[in-house]
Amino acid sequence: MEHKVNSEKSSSELISELEYPKKPNVIKYLNDLTLKQKQDFFDSFDLIFCDCDGVIWQTLHELLPGSPEAIDYLKRQGKEVIYVTNNSLSPIDMQLKKFERLGIEVKKNEIVHPAQTICDHLKSIQFDGLIFCLTSEAFKSQLREAGFNVMEELVGYVETLDDLRALINNDDPVKAVIIDGDFNLTASKLMRAHGYLKNNPECLFIGGAADILFTVGGNELMGAGIFISMLENTTQRKALVLGKPGVGLRDFIMDKHKIKNARRCLFIGDSIVSDIRFANVCGFQTLLVLTGSTTPEDLKSKLTEADTPDYVSECLADLNGFLS
Ligand SMILES: [Mg+2]
Repeated sequence: MEHKVNSEKSSSELISELEYPKKPNVIKYLNDLTLKQKQDFFDSFDLIFCDCDGVIWQTLHELLPGSPEAIDYLKRQGKEVIYVTNNSLSPIDMQLKKFERLGIEVKKNEIVHPAQTICDHLKSIQFDGLIFCLTSEAFKSQLREAGFNVMEELVGYVETLDDLRALINNDDPVKAVIIDGDFNLTASKLMRAHGYLKNNPECLFIGGAADILFTVGGNELMGAGIFISMLENTTQRKALVLGKPGVGLRDFIMDKHKIKNARRCLFIGDSIVSDIRFANVCGFQTLLVLTGSTTPEDLKSKLTEADTPDYVSECLADLNGFLS
């Protein structure tokens, strides 16, 4: 299925650069709601977008207890659940197996995954050309399996300017640069990407997961968003960002799921920026869970109006048997 998104120019900003819908800076804790308030909340949405890492499981693959049961409960109450991950290090087929292993029934088209979204987008614009990737191997494999031509990795140790020139000067007819999580990213790779984007205004500039920071095992790490910003700064261009928290992903989701009334959607996530800020800009209702990258202390110190969730809960499992 094809899902068109807006042109690169009109939908390229990261969410952080946009105006936010104004909303009162008041958080409601799910467990403090009265039964009537719980019923009203539950009746106020039909479609759930749910992040995975830090919500259903920990980033290091441990299931968060009660999550499958909560999802099962929500579905039995008639809610549709779509999973929105920024993790392209696990190919979508591996993610499907993980859901299956955890006892959560899911179909491929119910997972929004940066590599898949980018493949869908490239197909929708009938892209045909060489792609330079600053991504994981898993991401590149997914592009190749979808029939796209991905440039082979060029490796070389750079010590001198001559080494650098040999590595980055080339006439490859690159028509798209894609950047997502790449743990082997180097300065010379970024310089190559800069050259393709700067020298050819027709070369597409596409971002996947655009987290500035993410958390693994309690450690805060730099995300691909910081490198997307670097290339945006040096090239004076804007990436079409098709992972969280990109405007391109918002347009993609709105189109794919034919969303007419965004307030009838609930986004559940653990990240203030990648999930809550993204969902606020989409106009969704938001539920922040505290099983991932956000601590209760963050709620007191870090929140801006744009980052404020509508609701907070300790964990996804709190939704199991919510109305009983
Ligand atoms: Mg997460």
